[in-house]
Amino acid sequence: MIGPAMFTFDTTWTRDLPGTFLRQAPFVAPAPRYVALNRPLGARLGLDLDQLQAHPEWFAGAPPPGADPVALAYAGHQFGNFSPALGDGRAHLLGEIVTPLGRLDLALKGSGRTGFSRGGDGKAALGPMLREYLISEAMAALGVPTTRSLAVVATGETILRQEGPLPGAILVRLAASHIRVGSFEFFSARGEEDKLRALLAHTIARHDPDLAPDDALGLFDRVTARQVRLIAEWMGLGFVHGVMNTDNMALSGETIDYGPCAFIDAYDPLACYSSIDRQGRYRLDNQPKILAWNLSRLAETLIPLIPGAPDKVVGLLNERLEAIAPAYEAAFLQVMARKLALPGPDAALTAGFLSAVQGRDWTATLRGLAEEPGLGDWHAAWQKHRLPDHADRLCAANPAVIPRNHLVEEALTAATAGDMAPFDALLAACQTPYADHPARFTQSAPPDAPRHVTFCGT
Ligand code: AMP
Ligand code: MG
Repeated sequence: MIGPAMFTFDTTWTRDLPGTFLRQAPFVAPAPRYVALNRPLGARLGLDLDQLQAHPEWFAGAPPPGADPVALAYAGHQFGNFSPALGDGRAHLLGEIVTPLGRLDLALKGSGRTGFSRGGDGKAALGPMLREYLISEAMAALGVPTTRSLAVVATGETILRQEGPLPGAILVRLAASHIRVGSFEFFSARGEEDKLRALLAHTIARHDPDLAPDDALGLFDRVTARQVRLIAEWMGLGFVHGVMNTDNMALSGETIDYGPCAFIDAYDPLACYSSIDRQGRYRLDNQPKILAWNLSRLAETLIPLIPGAPDKVVGLLNERLEAIAPAYEAAFLQVMARKLALPGPDAALTAGFLSAVQGRDWTATLRGLAEEPGLGDWHAAWQKHRLPDHADRLCAANPAVIPRNHLVEEALTAATAGDMAPFDALLAACQTPYADHPARFTQSAPPDAPRHVTFCGT
């Protein structure tokens, strides 16, 4: 007996959507141990922290009471190519929990093989799981919609990767849902219209319950609005997701699947870090275009769900797709008005800033804009337009600390070798990003640092 129930499970996915998942048990880890436990988040979820602390095995092969572990089916366009069956190959949904923060998916990543694993081992290495934990929690503190990380549990196993043997780990992730563009693509590609309809109703019930359960166009508009806002926030922070495949785009509007992501140091619209993104498909300045591309894939899946003659339906969707680029532009100008302490969106000053800031540290330049010497004529123009209380506004809108690549690498290297101190210190700094911090957390990478390269972390 483990005392009173910890999690209030109420899993609607398995109830509403039969035939869309596989019931699968997570693998039993030999020696589960918390490497990171998000006690503040646990407290906000109303969890008993002592009990949580005592039971790392809940997330490593012995699920807590009420859990019903499943692997979800989904498809996805990866680097533009359609894969009809991806699915959770190394992840399990333990169920939906009802919390003071709302209904959330409680899920594991790195929790073992499933029916969707193909050749993979279903496992994850400690470094990439701590990376997702750190960056997702940093994003939350920055005010960006994101999945959250409750814990990282070391499994006690050694797994084999290209770099050699690595400690294995499992991430405990919370998400408003794991419904992806690729979830709709899965049933659309199979021509399973009844399941597509059920998924539509399920998605609306979870994210837009004020809409009618069959209002596909209404859902599309909501998803578009959320994603436009999300990508505008990413661009304001210089965040490069790195793998915006349609299976990594959530209809909730949360940032999901932190793999090869990175924040820019110097501003470079062509910034691209992922070792596998050779064409730069997912580089910084392509993210708004990929947003529209991915939403086009979502729109295609919705055609049979919208009443009316096919050409009329396609017309309605095309109107919406054409509106994405201007909506994004407006959202980005809004974000930049906040970051530049301007009274409102200003296309000319924003464009001027983007050319003046080229090659300079994005984060430090914005944070220190009031005293920034190197921006030439643009700075004089800005001084004429900025709000009178700009000093306070700049500090509230521009973080001092982001998880900079060289700091993240240093922290993960130490953690993999067993020293969590640098990780804990960086995490603490990232949790109050708008406060002032010691220079080691706010400086850009040393000028002799090699170009940062990220890996998908599988
Ligand atoms: P991701 O790059 O994490 O978005 O994953 C893309 C697809 O590959 C998903 O279907 C994952 O479940 C699958 N995948 C990634 N790593 C592994 C692994 N180690 N074992 C099995 N499947 C994996
Ligand atoms: Mg993914």
